[in-house]
Amino acid sequence: MSQQDQIEYQPDTLAIRTGHTRSFEGEHAEPIFLTSSFVYANAAEAAAKFSGQEAGNIYARFTNPTVTMFEKRLAAMEGAERAVATSSGMAAIMAVVMSFLKTGDHVICSRAVFGSTVALFEKYVAKFGVAVDFVDLTDLNAWKNAVRPETKLLFVESPSNPQAEIADIRALADIAHAGGALLAIDNSFCTPVLQKPLQFGADLVVYSATKYLDGQGRALGGAVVGNHQLLEDVFVYVRTSGPTMSPFNAWVFLKGLETLSLRMKAHSENAQKLAEYLSRHARVEKVYYAGLPEHVGHELAVSQQRGFGGIVSFEVKGGREAAWTVIDQTQFISITGNLGDVKSTITHPATTTHGKLSPEAKQAVGISEGLIRVSVGLEDIDDIIRDLSRGLDLI
Ligand SMILES: *Cc1c(COP(=O)(O)O)cnc(C)c1O
Repeated sequence: MSQQDQIEYQPDTLAIRTGHTRSFEGEHAEPIFLTSSFVYANAAEAAAKFSGQEAGNIYARFTNPTVTMFEKRLAAMEGAERAVATSSGMAAIMAVVMSFLKTGDHVICSRAVFGSTVALFEKYVAKFGVAVDFVDLTDLNAWKNAVRPETKLLFVESPSNPQAEIADIRALADIAHAGGALLAIDNSFCTPVLQKPLQFGADLVVYSATKYLDGQGRALGGAVVGNHQLLEDVFVYVRTSGPTMSPFNAWVFLKGLETLSLRMKAHSENAQKLAEYLSRHARVEKVYYAGLPEHVGHELAVSQQRGFGGIVSFEVKGGREAAWTVIDQTQFISITGNLGDVKSTITHPATTTHGKLSPEAKQAVGISEGLIRVSVGLEDIDDIIRDLSRGLDLI
């Protein structure tokens, strides 16, 4: 479909049809171009392509047709001008850092972001003289007060993991823009199906495609999405330094995008039912899911999202021992740190994904010993509930 045609199509059509470039063989499914470089008819064509006078592929660190298809499709689903694919979600975040920050700059980051994101800012970005402050996601005054003349980037994840706190994206965009900074949102949990942060004023959206965009736990990848001007900087960084998405993985994600809308609806439905079940269970202290009306972020989530997603966290009475009992009594739910899969997964954040945090840092982001995180998959919800109740009824 050409750019102009796309304006008339609904998101579900864009997710299946955008960006498909057929080769001369006329294949129906998207082709995988497993090639590192591209050839030219003659020296003049090579010269024109290398100089940029003529558009076209040169080398797969720069562009590859299968990766380009994925980028076009994701950008269309996001309602964005452009996307750049990366080798992983962390590579996408690093691409934002390297494209827009330099020594002397300052970043404000939500305290409740993915563990490796905290480590990336604290251990590596800081090493190059970029100062980082971590603040509470929902405390808008803390964000305002943290802004300095050197602030260039606000970095946010919403809903947060594992407490499902909701960021007021429009308010954060206003704070960023008033200070001349960019707002980047890690939208891996919602995907463009449930939330389009650019519509609320965010400048950049980053993805771990490894999660829901794939949806079946097969491949590692990431992406940065935004306008042409910003994304050109990201593109030049990625083509220069090399955290490029592999064409094979791009093909897996292309197929993932085709079913994303159906999957996100089904994940949200199952998660809602599980959250309601857990909130009635006597051995459950607290449930973190924005789909529950009593959740502090519920109203804000309703105003920003088209569903509440598939991640449910809850605290059991009895601390680590009780939490481990619930985990160990499951029969089919996978005990793993990964999420966003059609297979349900279960994690004890305090000793796995957030195990390296100090006790104070754990407390600040609400990681207690009794906390369990479930990525609710697409198995039958009655089976999922039964698998979890086995341990819950023992503690
Ligand atoms: C997994 C994840 C990442 C990192 O992505 P990788 O593909 O593992 O590099 C970043 N942000 C969030 C929210 C994630 O869940």
